Amino acid sequence: MVIGPTPAHALTPPSGDLVVRRPEGLYCPPGDFYIDPWRPVHRAVITHAHADHARAGHAHYLCAPDCAGVLQARLGPLPLQTLAYGDTLTVGGVTLSLHPAGHVLGSAQVRLAHAGQVWVVSGDYKVAPDATCLPFEPVRCHCFITESTFGLPIYRWRPPTEVFDEINAWWRQNAAEGLPSLLLGYSFGKAQRLLAGVDPAIGPIVVHAAVDAVNEAYRASGVALPATRRFAEMPDKRDWAGALVLAPPSAARGRLSRHLQHARDGLASGWMQLRGARRRAGVDRGFVLSDHADWPGLVQAIGATGAERVIVTHGQEAVLVRWLQEQGLDASSMETDYGDEAANELANEPAPPQGVNGHSGDSDNTVNAP
Ligand SMILES: [Zn+2]
Ligand SMILES: [Zn+2]
Repeated sequence: MVIGPTPAHALTPPSGDLVVRRPEGLYCPPGDFYIDPWRPVHRAVITHAHADHARAGHAHYLCAPDCAGVLQARLGPLPLQTLAYGDTLTVGGVTLSLHPAGHVLGSAQVRLAHAGQVWVVSGDYKVAPDATCLPFEPVRCHCFITESTFGLPIYRWRPPTEVFDEINAWWRQNAAEGLPSLLLGYSFGKAQRLLAGVDPAIGPIVVHAAVDAVNEAYRASGVALPATRRFAEMPDKRDWAGALVLAPPSAARGRLSRHLQHARDGLASGWMQLRGARRRAGVDRGFVLSDHADWPGLVQAIGATGAERVIVTHGQEAVLVRWLQEQGLDASSMETDYGDEAANELANEPAPPQGVNGHSGDSDNTVNAP
């Protein structure tokens, strides 16, 4: 990030808010930079490398070191500066630091301190354990900007170990019947978490090219993942019998491999908790596993910040805002262009143009008709 004199237009607005919404994205006026902007800007702080939060075309990028690998694997070489978790950088009059968000490798909450005020922008986060990234760190602040992808009381995740037991039992059973298991999960974050959670003793693990590219960035960051093979490395028909095949939900099954015609298939997603979602996604099994906080996770994370003011973005804003107001907090919502990553989790076809799917929380719009 280029640090220069603060331009006149970048002065703190009369409200004193450290983050405001501009057409380009969330903007920090006293620091004159954006956080996860959706239009090209001069200075972008990136919370994590999912496509809806980290876009191409910014003049300068700042992110956590572990974010940089996946980000550049996705977008190519970038004018990028990294900031280690907990280190501080002064931009304009703002002291900026990054703190683990527990969402995916390199995901960060952005802490902003200026004129006695502390604000934290969460990006996406979860509080459930994940072997592939650092755990969510509660950061005390006056104002917390939170996501709300699964911001309804119906969303309550079981411990991930129980879900992995379920997946392993399914894979083992399919292998015993001589069938491959096709497990669909988002290629960045979900796929690596699945890899770290399954039992590689059951059989070979085959990964789609999109998953393989992200795996490389994870391994380069020191995350332990079991050995995997690419599709091209599976020439013999017998090899597929007990294999676990990991692919993104968007990968058309017919084009993956002819050896998967008779595979059992499953989808790992928080949306699988919804009645009918598995059937609408057209898979044999649904595994409820999300990289976002469930309702108790959101409530716990927000409470741990001690924030008196909460701004709710992308997801179930209205329900969470009302609940927070009932708890006596100053809560409001802010519209953003985020949410495609979670929305596309169920897509069996190419993602719609940007903006069509802005509200990922509206799950009925994110599943295909039968
Ligand atoms: Zn994300
Ligand atoms: Zn998001």
